[in-house]
Amino acid sequence: MDYSRQLTLHDFTEDHQKKLASSSVLIVGCGGVGCLIALYLAGAGVKNLSLLDMDVVSESNLHRQIVYTIAEKGQKKATLLAEKVKALNPSVNATAILTPIFSDNAVDLFLPHDVVIDASDNVYTRYLCSDAAVIAGHKRGRPVPLISAASVGYAMSIESVCLSSSQPCYRCRHSRPPRRGRERTATTTGVLGPVSGIAGTCAACECIKLLCGDLGGDLREKRLTIDVHSWTCIMAKVSGTQKAGCICEKMWSGEVDEPVEEVGYRNQPPFTDKDEKQEKDETDEKE
Ligand SMILES: [Zn+2]
Repeated sequence: MDYSRQLTLHDFTEDHQKKLASSSVLIVGCGGVGCLIALYLAGAGVKNLSLLDMDVVSESNLHRQIVYTIAEKGQKKATLLAEKVKALNPSVNATAILTPIFSDNAVDLFLPHDVVIDASDNVYTRYLCSDAAVIAGHKRGRPVPLISAASVGYAMSIESVCLSSSQPCYRCRHSRPPRRGRERTATTTGVLGPVSGIAGTCAACECIKLLCGDLGGDLREKRLTIDVHSWTCIMAKVSGTQKAGCICEKMWSGEVDEPVEEVGYRNQPPFTDKDEKQEKDETDEKE
């Protein structure tokens, strides 16, 4: 693979290329966001790509999952994407993971990777990925940076969490998931296809920057939101400190070694009857 065009960039060096050539990235979700991330990272020369998705290609998703074709309908997306990655750059190791991500396998899946990108279309998976990144980072003594990229409606957003032992996790900034039935998804709200592409390309850029380490700034204290309906682009300043009592703060401070139910490491779907009761109690208290 010829990387000359990125090596021509004024601050992109051979050392950066070597870093990418020894890096491993896990992409959770091979849909409209994840498929572009995989191809761009493969093009950039990221050596090992793990592609997690258990779903198959369906026609109603092709408007944004544009690397797949109608002829591939019904086939496993992760398997197809691994083949496309290899076709683009044969020097990349692309591994399809065809299992769902749950609390009992997430940490093991995260451990061998330098960066994890949550490109799932499920808001509850964001919390699972965040918790797993915290626990895996603590377990190996080195953080597991997590990029969270999402698109719904006409808007996308992206942020990076768990970048160090003192940086916040996703749960620090978004304390709890929406209640069941209130989440916005491509199925319930719709999504404009290219918006998923924007999320994917932004996530690929952020991943390359995190892996290289010194190509400008990263999103550690920023959240980028782009709304193409109003053509609004917001780079919001977000907290760079851990929330007291959050799972990340407890684990990195040594207060707990193992995740316990109270700190939020939940199976999927994470909202249990206990959660609903807790939320109702909190609502009652406010009233
Ligand atoms: Zn946290």
